[in-house]
Amino acid sequence: MTQASDPAAAAAPAAPAAVAAAPRPAPAPGEGAREFIRISRLVKTFDGHRAVDDVSLSVREGEIFCLLGGSGSGKSTLLRMLAGFETQDSGTIEIDGQDMAGVAPWARPVNMMFQSYALFPHMSVEKNVAYGLKQEGVPKAERAARTAAMLDLVKLSQYAGRRPAQLSGGQRQRVALARALIKNPKALLLDEPLSALDKKLREETQFELMDIQERLGTTFIVVTHDQEEAMTLADRIGVMDQGRLVQVDRPRDIYEYPRNRFIANFIGAANMIEGEVVEDEADHVKLSSAMLGDEVFIHHGLSCQMGQTMWVAVRPEKLRITRRHPSEHPDAVGAGPLGGMAKAVVEDVAYMGGLTRFRARLPSGATVSATRANLDRRDADALTWEDEVYVWWPAEAGVALTS
Ligand code: ADP
Ligand code: MG
Repeated sequence: MTQASDPAAAAAPAAPAAVAAAPRPAPAPGEGAREFIRISRLVKTFDGHRAVDDVSLSVREGEIFCLLGGSGSGKSTLLRMLAGFETQDSGTIEIDGQDMAGVAPWARPVNMMFQSYALFPHMSVEKNVAYGLKQEGVPKAERAARTAAMLDLVKLSQYAGRRPAQLSGGQRQRVALARALIKNPKALLLDEPLSALDKKLREETQFELMDIQERLGTTFIVVTHDQEEAMTLADRIGVMDQGRLVQVDRPRDIYEYPRNRFIANFIGAANMIEGEVVEDEADHVKLSSAMLGDEVFIHHGLSCQMGQTMWVAVRPEKLRITRRHPSEHPDAVGAGPLGGMAKAVVEDVAYMGGLTRFRARLPSGATVSATRANLDRRDADALTWEDEVYVWWPAEAGVALTS
């Protein structure tokens, strides 16, 4: 329970705590699973630049853990240190209880699947997959049986005799996956495994990857720069920025409880309502916001000081945009105290099919974004350019951030 009520405790130790007492749900089942990889204070420097900067992390047995971050944030370097292809300057890596210092890549209980699949072009699919077993001297009959089972798992049995060049991108990706899995590694490290695939195939392959992982129970660590991919695949996500691990959480918690403005903006979109603390009580905080032209109400206490600048992040789907004043709006009734409200003018409307995006300008000149799900085929309350509206959110919908 202590862990559940304190987001700072669950995140990287290096970054400053953002919120002292934001309410947070209980841990998901399985969170007590065994720790399989323990990374402690890992540092890797290239030419005086910290590619990986004091990263501590533990990965649980059987989970899909996604390392998510922009290009150059240190994801691949961290993965390569786990695999043993790079040596850290300082810090430790333990896998399955064993310190990996000085342990060669091939002797580690992990395997890596590379971004370029590195298949042998002159070998059939079957031979590519069986290659690792042959190298290990696994007897022929066992090799054939394990290869067949693996081809079945990745749905490539009918392509066993083809060469890589005779396959689609998605099929090549599956050959690489089969090749990485056939030696039964306890953990598989995947660096941008789906980046060569087009969007539609990538989405399909994400589900296949999850299905295979679930059937084998192998721990997967997946590097990606694609936040939707991380949200889809991961049991937990670690967000990296400039070599640091900024937050580690379940996808939903990263989205709903980002710990600073960087995360809130990086994962999804957010309206950042800025203000200064004018009331600091044990059970609530109030900000004065020039941007909103009004006060912002935060429905819980947090560690802050009078006059301090803070932000409340409100996701576009949680920002309401209505013709009616919230005090008269049925959705506001029973939704708890209001977090904030402003008059606004609709400046942009983009109909996207499933939802409509709005941009609205506040009297302060600031703009905010709101989305509305198109639940009905006809929208009786359709808003259009230049409409005068109210934008508002229930206090519960906002995330208070101090950094
Ligand atoms: P990501 O995978 O998140 O895009 P990387 O881990 O590949 O990031 O790189 C992190 C930083 O380390 C980058 O600034 C990159 O240029 C640098 N870097 C990575 N590998 C090397 C290397 N072998 N030599 C020098 N610099 C490197
Ligand atoms: Mg990379």
